[in-house]
Amino acid sequence: MIPEFNRLIARARHATRLAFGAGGAALSVSGLANWTARSFDDELLMTFARARPKAILLQLIILLPVLCSSVLGATSFGVPMGAFLIGVGLAASLVLADHWPKLRHRTAVNSFLGLEALHGFGWALLSQNSPLPHIVPDMAFAVFIPVALGGSALVFSSAIKGAMAAQLLPILTANAISLAMDGHRLPNDTLCLSIVVIGFFLYLGGRITESTRDHLTIRAEKDALIADLEQAKAHSDEARRRAEELNLAKSRFLATMSHELRTPLNAILGFSEVMEAELLGRHRVKAYRAYARDIHESGQMLLGLIDEVLDLSRIEAGRYELVEEPCQLADSVSECAHLLHMRAHSRGIVMMIMVDPDLPPILADERALRQITLNLLSNAIKFTPAGGDISIRVGGVPKGGQFIQVTDTGPGIPAHEIPIILESFGRGSLAVKRAEQGSGLGLPIVRGLVAMHGGEFSIQSREGEGTSVTITLPKERVLTPAPLRPRLNRTQVAA
Ligand code: ADP
Repeated sequence: MIPEFNRLIARARHATRLAFGAGGAALSVSGLANWTARSFDDELLMTFARARPKAILLQLIILLPVLCSSVLGATSFGVPMGAFLIGVGLAASLVLADHWPKLRHRTAVNSFLGLEALHGFGWALLSQNSPLPHIVPDMAFAVFIPVALGGSALVFSSAIKGAMAAQLLPILTANAISLAMDGHRLPNDTLCLSIVVIGFFLYLGGRITESTRDHLTIRAEKDALIADLEQAKAHSDEARRRAEELNLAKSRFLATMSHELRTPLNAILGFSEVMEAELLGRHRVKAYRAYARDIHESGQMLLGLIDEVLDLSRIEAGRYELVEEPCQLADSVSECAHLLHMRAHSRGIVMMIMVDPDLPPILADERALRQITLNLLSNAIKFTPAGGDISIRVGGVPKGGQFIQVTDTGPGIPAHEIPIILESFGRGSLAVKRAEQGSGLGLPIVRGLVAMHGGEFSIQSREGEGTSVTITLPKERVLTPAPLRPRLNRTQVAA
């Protein structure tokens, strides 16, 4: 009972929200429940009224032979009187089925019930005053009439409570009275069977009315749920749109600021270089030269950071423009490996490169490809301890694209940190602990550039075992597809 009540309240609240907006909240809870129950009742009444003509047609088709032969062979006044009441009841019910919306709900229901009772009373009169059994058998009156009325009411008239009872109770009462009186025309067992049949129909009718109500409640609940879901989706779309707008505004701000910072920084770099080189005369104090060098190195670090911020902002704001040209992935990667070879060597790291020499050219932004490779390689060198290995693979993938894979034997990245390091400015705990230089922008830039090429980025790492980063460019970027041969030229990178 309570969940049912809550469901009704929820639906009513929702419907009220839709109907009256926020002001609807001022309505009392009991008022809402009444409002909902009323709306169900109206719907049930409408279903009943719509089904009226079909129900009447069915009853007439089944019972017309009984009716006609009874009237023709009538021996008492009860038969034509019963037929008259049935006719009036059915005709008035048909008229009411068309005009009920003009009446108040309660009046319409009572009128329908009254007409059903009139109709049922007609059948009761008919069955009690039937002509002799040689014209129409007793069974037809005692059992067939209730079955026909009950069956048609079950199919078409169970939408309003009491409709079936109004039809069948007069027959039931007449049968019960006949049974109680002595010397009646119908045999006892036929009357008992008729009473049982009517009781069974009344029970079934009650169950069907209940399940119709349940069905309506569930349907209303489903409608309310769909409306809630649609509202939630609209909210989340709006929130996402706002977040995207804010992100764009942030990226635009960073791009503008970074650009503004570069101009004075270039002056700092230029003048500190002049001072370090003592181009305009020697420093009287030697320390000034060291200061000038520090200023220059710090300026360069700052410039690197600003460039990274600028790149990432442009990528996120969709303002990074790829300069696409045919290029050899293997050549670009090899050049970057040679560039960083000295750094790796000085840290005691061996760098291996394996490239497929038959790779066809691809259409890509070569500067972006170099930036991707340099970022991945400098990370590998930065985090791999002395004595470790770095292997670089460049080749074709079975799907038709090309890949670069950088694998190191460094400390690896804990699984829970991978989502963090892929965020802007995200740094792993190891980098923070070892105070490694870095801004946490390298991998997001790599990911962004790869995405702009329509490629895929993946990172596999196990703590204590090393890290492997793979980027794949799609087959649409390969210019002259050649049959794939899984052949890699393996060379140690040398200066
Ligand atoms: P950073 O400039 O700080 O290196 P990145 O975005 O390139 O920024 O890397 C983010 C973090 O990812 C690093 O701080 C480090 O914790 C982790 N990381 C990246 N590459 C490796 C690697 N090869 N081995 C271990 N950790 C790595």
